[in-house]
Amino acid sequence: MRLRNKPWADDYLRENNHIVVQEPFSMKGKWKELFNDPDHPLHLEIGSGKGQFIAGMGAQHDDVNFIGVELVKNVIVGALKKVLEAGVENVRLVNQDANDLRELFQSNEIDHIYLNFSDPWPKNRHEKRRLTFHTFLSQYEDVLVPGGEITLKTDNKGLFEYSLVSFSEYGMILEDVSVDLHAEEDPLNISTEYEQKFSAKGQPIYRCRVRFQS
Ligand code: SAM
Repeated sequence: MRLRNKPWADDYLRENNHIVVQEPFSMKGKWKELFNDPDHPLHLEIGSGKGQFIAGMGAQHDDVNFIGVELVKNVIVGALKKVLEAGVENVRLVNQDANDLRELFQSNEIDHIYLNFSDPWPKNRHEKRRLTFHTFLSQYEDVLVPGGEITLKTDNKGLFEYSLVSFSEYGMILEDVSVDLHAEEDPLNISTEYEQKFSAKGQPIYRCRVRFQS
């Protein structure tokens, strides 16, 4: 996908520094302090894209604090717009590479991680880049509380099957699984932009929720 350059993006992100965290590495161990209710659980979405999920989750769960990390500046501006439109105060955005979460978060700092329509990296030689490769699972285990959970959604059957095996080999516990989420009509499901697009084409959406052993 070709992204149009947005010359105003830097200013827009800076002007909204109450939502877009400007120095995220300095927040390691202190993320809760950014929120009105620091005692609420902290949920993290990796690769938030244009933000429909995180803005919707913020509105749906005012008893949870959310952080969305998105690498691409020209994409995260869309997420910022959605968060502002939703008027939610429990969402913060981070324009960073989430490749090494241990640089951003301390052990036990996060309660739940969402991986929504992550890049599938279908070639075998790119296995290490999949966000459910065991090196990533080990990072997630570090930053999550003991027994912390991951929810994964994807349209990609190959990534879904791979991830289930990877979770299982890591010793994680499968809490919930759906191979056609939209057929089940979960009233609490908040769709992402990719989810809407693929579902509109008739593709099934896969979802699982797994947790680390405590
Ligand atoms: N989650 C959104 C959705 O479902 O609509 C976007 C899915 S899109 C396929 C994957 C997103 O992850 C892209 O916006 C991409 O820029 C972001 N991404 C990829 N690698 C990343 C990384 N290392 N750190 C943060 N974001 C990343």
